[in-house]
Order: sequence, then structure tokens, then C-alpha cells
Amino acid sequence: MKMNKLGKTGLEVTELCFGALPFGPMQKNLNMVSCTRIVERALESGINFVDTAQSYLTYEPIERAMKSTGIRPVIATKSTACDYEFMKKAVSEALAQLDVDVIDIFHLHAARADDSVFSERQGALECLLDCKAKGLIKAVGISTHSVKTVQAAASRDDIDVVFPIINISGIGILHGTREEMLKAIADCIAMGKGVYVMKALGGGTLIDRYDEAMTFAREIPGIASIALGMVSEEELKFNLDYFEGRKRELEVPLKKAAKKRFFVVPTLCNNCGQCRETCPNEAIAECDGRSQIETAKCLTCGYCVGACKMFAIRMI
Ligand code: SF4
Ligand code: SF4
Repeated sequence: MKMNKLGKTGLEVTELCFGALPFGPMQKNLNMVSCTRIVERALESGINFVDTAQSYLTYEPIERAMKSTGIRPVIATKSTACDYEFMKKAVSEALAQLDVDVIDIFHLHAARADDSVFSERQGALECLLDCKAKGLIKAVGISTHSVKTVQAAASRDDIDVVFPIINISGIGILHGTREEMLKAIADCIAMGKGVYVMKALGGGTLIDRYDEAMTFAREIPGIASIALGMVSEEELKFNLDYFEGRKRELEVPLKKAAKKRFFVVPTLCNNCGQCRETCPNEAIAECDGRSQIETAKCLTCGYCVGACKMFAIRMI
């Protein structure tokens, strides 16, 4: 598989990054054995880059897969921590649960925040910079859906890696257009940032246009990798074949699997609004005293699932 340098971090990553969100509790909720097996297969197949997050709750299968295969990939994780102390706990938790001495990339997890994120979460960022100085983190990054944030990151010396959303249809991009996001990404790359991208398939909504959507993402100049969430060995094999030049027809079961949908169980919803606060694409609205998900705007990220204390949000 093609390897690319991740900006000036000194890290080299495979063009395909294993996205460790969808198999976990926020989406498919596969059991530990299944989760571990798919990470093992990904590592054994040559993928050297894994993207996770504190909120994805998938550190354990990654740790188990690293142990069983003896393969240590480049690991990126992220936390929504807002201040120094919470970020310190997030870094300690990642180091302990992944059982590693150093995290390669640690992001401010800031899906829908605009560029004010850098001042509003200054304490959390300072913590990451201190951890980097102590050798606990190799690179500091930001994961974001916002054009403004990507633009701001380009000129910041404290940000090494940027992980933005981009896809052919522009779904999920906040505070600007697809073209403006492409320009902001180009600015980051020109400034030596490592850039890898998320949601090239629009959270599964572009699965019928897989080749077109993936070609678009792969041709963005200078990006190092594309993170794709995978929940089965079939899906992993398909993506590996594609990225290694063995293109084949997308099989019907894979298309079906990718067409997940989130909905709110009305009888369980107490209208607390947490999901609406959390949704990165304003896809949840209040309707008759309950939350309702607008499927056309939903990125199928599953973030609302973790936000709902009533377990009212389900995936089918
Ligand atoms: S977080 Fe859950 S309970 Fe609260 S409004 Fe959303 S669906 Fe309803
Ligand atoms: S409703 Fe929002 S938070 Fe929930 S899965 Fe869809 S995009 Fe993600």
C-alpha cells in the first residue's frame, strides 16, 4: 500500500487509515472478539494507521490487536476535553488503555466548533503541547468539520496535524463550501501540516458513488491518508483491494451494510436536547416535544448515541 509522509511530523502512514469508530459501541457495537479480529486483519494486511477517539470507546480492541499481532501502528486519538485537567486525564487514559508509552497524534476533538475553539479550549491545547514536550505525544492535531478551523490551523505553529471532513458532495462541511475547505486544506499542506481526511464517503451516504467519491478524495493534493470506518472483514478486504489497485464491483451486502440509519425512539426521548447539542451537522430537530433525526442531513457518525443518557437513539 502507498505510504505518505504526514507533514513534518516524521510519521509515515498508509494511504488507507483504519477508522475505529463504527465497529464500537457508538454504532455497530460488535463484541470484543469481532472488534479485535478486524483490527488484527487490518494490521496484518499492511494498514499502519489507526484513528480512534476517547469517545469511541475502542481503545481495548486496538490494544488487544497490537498485542496479538505484535504490530504497532501509528495511532491517532482525540478528546473533547475543554480544559487542562480533563485533557490530562484523556491522555493518561489513552496511554493506559492502549498500553503504549507514546501516542503518535492527539487531536482536539472539535467536530463542529469554529476557529474560536483555539481560545475556548486553550487549556486543553496547552496540555497537549506540554504532553508533547514530555514525549507522551508526538504530534498535536485538530479534528474538525469547520472550514474556519482548518483555515485557522494553517497558520498556527502549535498544530502539527489537521483531520478535516471532505467529500465530493460537501456533506457535513461547516462554515464554508467544499471549495473553501479544499483551499483551507491546501493552505495547511503548504504550511507543512500533516493532513488526513475523514468522511470521504459522507458517512456511507456516498456508497453508491464509491469509486467517484474515493477518486475525488485520493486526488486532493498533499493529503497523507483517508480514514475509513470498517465493520467487517469483507469491508476491509474491499477497501484494501481498492486502495491496492484491484478495483472490483461493490457487492450488494457491503452497500446494504453501509446504508445505516439512525433514529430516535420517541417513547424513550425526554427532550433533554443533548443529542441536538452534540450533532455535528445540525441533523436533529425538536418535533412535538421529542428529538427527530433528519436522515438527509445525518452523517451517520453516531455521536448522538453516546450523548443520549436515555439510550433513545438507535441504528438500523
Ligand atoms: S439526548 Fe436522547 S433523550 Fe435527550 S433529546 Fe436526544 S434523543 Fe431525546
Ligand atoms: S444525527 Fe447527527 S450526531 Fe447523530 S449520527 Fe446523524 S450526524 Fe451523527
